[in-house]
Amino acid sequence: MPRLSDVISELDALWPPERAEGWDAVGTVCGDPDAEIHRVLFAVDPIQEIADEAMELGAHLIVTHHPLYLRGTTTVAATTFKGRVVHTLIKQGIALHVAHTNADTADPGVSDALAAALDLRVERPLVPDPTDPAGRRGLGRICVLDHPETLGAFAARAAARLPATAQGIRLAGDPEALVRTVAVSGGSGDSLFDAVRAAGVDAFLTADLRHHPASEATQHSPLGLVDAAHWATEWPWCEQAAAQLEAISDRLGWDLRVHVSKQVTDPWTAHHSSGAPN
Ligand SMILES: [Zn+2]
Repeated sequence: MPRLSDVISELDALWPPERAEGWDAVGTVCGDPDAEIHRVLFAVDPIQEIADEAMELGAHLIVTHHPLYLRGTTTVAATTFKGRVVHTLIKQGIALHVAHTNADTADPGVSDALAAALDLRVERPLVPDPTDPAGRRGLGRICVLDHPETLGAFAARAAARLPATAQGIRLAGDPEALVRTVAVSGGSGDSLFDAVRAAGVDAFLTADLRHHPASEATQHSPLGLVDAAHWATEWPWCEQAAAQLEAISDRLGWDLRVHVSKQVTDPWTAHHSSGAPN
């Protein structure tokens, strides 16, 4: 049975921590490097419900996309909600490891999983990592639809293929416009509009789009925007990452049990449509 340090060194090979953004907080949050690991749970958010799920599963390691502490802390007291997560994990002997922006830009990365969920053919990164001679790593992906469809049909397919959330899918642009090429970026895509425009794609699938950037982007050119729940755009990565760890486990004879949490941890829990405007 592998020890935590063995598993972490394999995870670090998939998502090298030095490739994370400078502001990010990736790596092992808690855990004993000598602890034996038999069962692993992948999830997007390191929240109490996920810690409880790991406890019920008997998992020894949780791997999440989002960091628990992004800006540092001076307390892990169980009176704080993050401290309670830490207490649960340590009491139950569960380690927590984070792969965030280092998983976003990896090959395969978060946006590859998002593209695969919609059967999109990935051509190249939206914002390539200049240190990758193969040109495969980077932020977001530019994809081609083998069978072009309308923006409305594409958005409906995103709604059907991504895990269900209260938000569902929002659409900006002409639903009848034909979509041949798409930029996709798991998580918040607001900062990528310049790259999306430069790529000249027909649509952009991402999450967390705000009024002004979305309004300006659609005024600038007939770009279709497909906005999903943040959690839904990153959850496909959990399945991709779990499959990667299972392959490593098979290769090394570890016999790991690898799980993906099905809990919807998007913070939005209900959506009331006011109907389509005239
Ligand atoms: Zn995210």
